[in-house]
Amino acid sequence: MEEQDQKDPNGYDRAAVVSSLRREWCRRRLDRFARGAPAELEAAGKLLEEISDAAAGLEGCGRDLIYYECVCGGSKLVPRSCGYASLCPQCARREAARVSAVYHSRLLERQGSLPAWFKPRSLTLTLRPNEGETLRAVVLRCRSAAKTTLRLVYGIPSSGAEWSLMRQLHARQIEKLVELTAEETPGGRARSLRARRREAIAKWRSMLVAERTRRRAGWVVAVELGERGMKAHAHAVALAPYVDQKILARAWELVSGSYVVWITNARNAKEALKYPVKFTGRSASELVSVFLAFHGIRRLEAFGCLRTPSASERAGAFDPPPVECPECHESGMVATGWVPLVAYESGIRAPPMGCSFVHAACPSS
Ligand SMILES: [Zn+2]
Ligand SMILES: [Zn+2]
Repeated sequence: MEEQDQKDPNGYDRAAVVSSLRREWCRRRLDRFARGAPAELEAAGKLLEEISDAAAGLEGCGRDLIYYECVCGGSKLVPRSCGYASLCPQCARREAARVSAVYHSRLLERQGSLPAWFKPRSLTLTLRPNEGETLRAVVLRCRSAAKTTLRLVYGIPSSGAEWSLMRQLHARQIEKLVELTAEETPGGRARSLRARRREAIAKWRSMLVAERTRRRAGWVVAVELGERGMKAHAHAVALAPYVDQKILARAWELVSGSYVVWITNARNAKEALKYPVKFTGRSASELVSVFLAFHGIRRLEAFGCLRTPSASERAGAFDPPPVECPECHESGMVATGWVPLVAYESGIRAPPMGCSFVHAACPSS
């Protein structure tokens, strides 16, 4: 079996990332006993497990083997991938390609049933970190602010607080309505400004709610950490009507306090949906801190019309190809265990009976 190259031409060093994860594990394990609250200990324990799983998975990615069995008695060994997209360039590339294909199929399908002014747009919202804010806190803040901002600009606020932000966002439009109500209603000028404003807001709100295309837009949002200084930013691809950059900037500022935004028509929606994970120029310990900042957080989320699976997706077009049996050529093979590279190298070709894996730590091997 061919050993996978540990060092990437782009400077990625798998072994260094694995040992950085293991160092982090040791540090946290020691730290765990120094801390008090049981709930905190439990959370720390779970994270420790995740770190150790990641180290083992990353180390064996493409090298350890999954053992497949067929009803006919045939078996097959297939290289296992770790699936840690924030730690492993191979898995990141694979995941990005899959995600892009899945969402592109949704986008194309939905676009066909929407008016022509619903186009794929690419948006970037950049967050300025607060003094002393941890990477994880920045990621969480960026994610929630981006979600709110997109709801605001596409006119579907979901709470009282968001409606209030919406009013601030549309303050100028509301002011115009206040003037208009004054002119339209007899004796309008004589009424208090407060009453007129209340009326204008009610009118603005019902106009917004009555908008035919409201709730038909959809978007996919992902938070990323930039190449330089690991600045958090949210990247989104929306299938939505036109929104002025100024409105977007104002909404982002209202929600997050930052104001750097970018919106453009996504000419190549498929490419725009390939959310990149950065590996180049990042040290092993930086990759580990990115992994820790994102652990347990869904990196990518879909909303509105892009939330439901497309027909081809439901038909399994993006599922991994089934494993074909080398004996009977049927594709109903089932994974029943795994064989780590070390075991394979010592001649083991199948996990022992009654044990799903061969490992030094496994009592039955
Ligand atoms: Zn991997
Ligand atoms: Zn078979």
